Amino acid sequence: MTGDAAYDYEQLLIFESWDIEGLLNKHCTHGKERWSRKGKTHTDEAKEAISKAHKGKPKTDEAKEAMSKAHKGKSRVPFTDEHKEKIRKANQGKHHSDEHKEKIRKANQGKHHSDEAKEAISKARKGKHHSPEACEKMSKAHKGKSRVPFTDEHKEAISKSQKGKHHSEETKEKMSKSKKGKPKSEETKEKMSKPKSEETKTKMSDAKKGENNPNFGKHCSEETKRKISDSKKKQQKLKCPNCGKECYPNNATRWHFDNCKTK
Ligand SMILES: [Zn+2]
Repeated sequence: MTGDAAYDYEQLLIFESWDIEGLLNKHCTHGKERWSRKGKTHTDEAKEAISKAHKGKPKTDEAKEAMSKAHKGKSRVPFTDEHKEKIRKANQGKHHSDEHKEKIRKANQGKHHSDEAKEAISKARKGKHHSPEACEKMSKAHKGKSRVPFTDEHKEAISKSQKGKHHSEETKEKMSKSKKGKPKSEETKEKMSKPKSEETKTKMSDAKKGENNPNFGKHCSEETKRKISDSKKKQQKLKCPNCGKECYPNNATRWHFDNCKTK
């Protein structure tokens, strides 16, 4: 018998006795050598038969252990797009059990994607948006759940990755819209009302000094100056009832009356 014929005969024997409890595991633990026939692929019929035989049969713990051992440290050949599509279709509408989710979570604890992997994920997601249904689902799933606060390390990483980046006008518009009419949390209000540290003040001031000022190098035309002057003349200065200072309405309402320091 040639090697190929022997292989085929072996396959036939295996298929015929597939249903015998434990047979597959017996062979698996004897060594993966007899299964790894280089370059051989199963025929479609064989695949069908294997698939049928496996349906609904959970693997024994030993079998899982043996498979896990055999795969440790080996990097998987990347799936083809066709294969990925098949997996996606097969999993459509399926959900992991909570137990399974917990297992995945535990297995991934402390693991990080390599920079290469991150790059690949980033590339794959570029320009993609979640569907409205997906957004809705995520929103529902997260409602009422308070996020675990970021660690300082994590915040630093986010800050670093965002340095020098600016939101697009479109994004700004969106953020503004979504915030409009929503009351600020007490925490946010407290943060905003807290007097800023001298360090922060200096930083903010420096950030707008000289050429960093949006008006740097710009001068009002004579006409603009005259207009500003005219409008000021028309405005009546208001006297703050709290500190007695007289100033134009803009500043009066911003810094005096209800907002006066001495109040
Ligand atoms: Zn005042």
